[in-house]
Amino acid sequence: MATDTITNPAISGGTPKSKVFKNFIDGEWVESASGKTFEDINPADTREVVAIFQESNKEDVDAAVDAAKRAFAKWRLVPAPRRAEMVFRAAEILIERKEDHARDMTREMGKVLKETRGDVQEAIDAAYYNAGEGRRLFGPTVPSELPNKFAMAVRQPIGVCGMITPWNFPMAISSWKLLPAIVCGNTCVIKPAQDTPLSTFNLVQALTDAGVPRGVINVVAGFGPEVGTPLTEHRDVRAISLTGSSAVGRIVGQIAAKSFKHCSLELGGKNPMIVLDDANLELAVEGGLWGAFGTTGQRCTATSRILVQKGVYRKFVDDFVARAKKIKVGNGLDESVEMGPAVNQRQLDTDLKYIEIGKNEGAKLVTGGNRLDKGDYKHGFFVEPTVFIDVDPKMQIAQEEIFGPVVSIIPCEGLEDAIAIANNIEYGLSSSLYTRDVNKAFAAVRDLETGITYINAPTIGAEVHLPFGGTKATGNGHREGGIGAIDFYTEWKAVYVDYSDTLQRAQIDRPE
Ligand code: NAD
Repeated sequence: MATDTITNPAISGGTPKSKVFKNFIDGEWVESASGKTFEDINPADTREVVAIFQESNKEDVDAAVDAAKRAFAKWRLVPAPRRAEMVFRAAEILIERKEDHARDMTREMGKVLKETRGDVQEAIDAAYYNAGEGRRLFGPTVPSELPNKFAMAVRQPIGVCGMITPWNFPMAISSWKLLPAIVCGNTCVIKPAQDTPLSTFNLVQALTDAGVPRGVINVVAGFGPEVGTPLTEHRDVRAISLTGSSAVGRIVGQIAAKSFKHCSLELGGKNPMIVLDDANLELAVEGGLWGAFGTTGQRCTATSRILVQKGVYRKFVDDFVARAKKIKVGNGLDESVEMGPAVNQRQLDTDLKYIEIGKNEGAKLVTGGNRLDKGDYKHGFFVEPTVFIDVDPKMQIAQEEIFGPVVSIIPCEGLEDAIAIANNIEYGLSSSLYTRDVNKAFAAVRDLETGITYINAPTIGAEVHLPFGGTKATGNGHREGGIGAIDFYTEWKAVYVDYSDTLQRAQIDRPE
């Protein structure tokens, strides 16, 4: 691969060494024009520099877009089933490398190994799904309103696609964007999140080893304003796909609008889980814990509000809090650990800030609330699993995305009340309902204003072949996953073939 290695001075004995990754442009590993680099740090032990990446700038973006533009001229003409075969081969390669990639990911972003294995698996699943799409890419063939005329619509690639990703699903989210884009015949420039570039480089290495030609995928590491913005502004980038916060989504969306770029925004969430009196309470407690504290609460779909009907409120709270207290926090490389650190100092500060806000606005803190910084925790960004109860739905901790292991439990009267509280929020990504009443379940599916609803499961757990995304401030109406991604990465062309040998004017020459 990329790279030189340098000794990591922070680790005693000088090992392990930190790899220096260059940018990947036109099939070559190249240094940034800036001459600067930045460190990818392990959030469980900040003394460890996992790898070093280029701190890129506009010049690097321009070079990558040029390469992608040149590659597009050939790649769009490669038959889609051939393109898809390369993606299929990448899936097989990722299976072989799964454990190594999962370990890299745990080191660069902190989530526990069983979850990072799941993240790599999601890229494998996305590869198989999109490889299959290479033999479909269906479009409608319809009867013409005129005789001796043929009518159909075909999908065409858009051109160079820019991609900007967050750090919480560093391989999965890159795969959701890159794989459908290239199967559809586009070429790509991706800017991975600055906290977790390694996992994107691992994915792109697998695709390169699987035969994806030079220039089809280019990776430019770096920061949002220096790389993400010029990528969004570039006139030769015809589509831009961002997964990130709603604040950055607003910036990217506005820039993209100026040049009429296709623009897909997958943004924040504040996801409610509703527990009714008739629910399987043990299942709901277990699901709530997984939804709230899995990935240290750093999922866009994390269960951050739990709305519990009054009849089971006390019992649910007691059981939930007792179990939350037992969650083992630590370095995700230890198989017995259940919750890793926050990804960086900024996220840790945000978690602690919201804990203070919750206390100040009168929510009852029943467990957690502190940074862990002694002993094994000394060098990491660890925070306790934190539960607030008796939360008023209007409180800031119940309205704003925290993106950490802080959950608000809110009492409610019943389904109608719960749905009103659930919907009274800026976001609309995921929701869930625990009940044994099928009528209530289907009413909730109809009425919850989110892009995803789970019944008797927490708000997390998306599968790659269904649409993924949300309503309101969670996005701009596009979906990743499944056929939604194929829709985003293709443009429709309507094709009419008139074999009548006469001029037939639509809507005018109407046959009797
Ligand atoms: P972020 O918005 O800070 O950053 C996302 C990406 O945007 C990064 O690569 C960043 O470098 C880049 N960026 C930052 N400023 C930019 C600018 N001015 N122009 C262009 N690019 C810029 O988000 P994050 O902290 O990496 O991730 C957490 C957020 O992502 C949360 O809000 C979470 O809900 C959201 N998220 C959403 C989904 C989804 O599918 N809806 C999935 C995962 C995460």
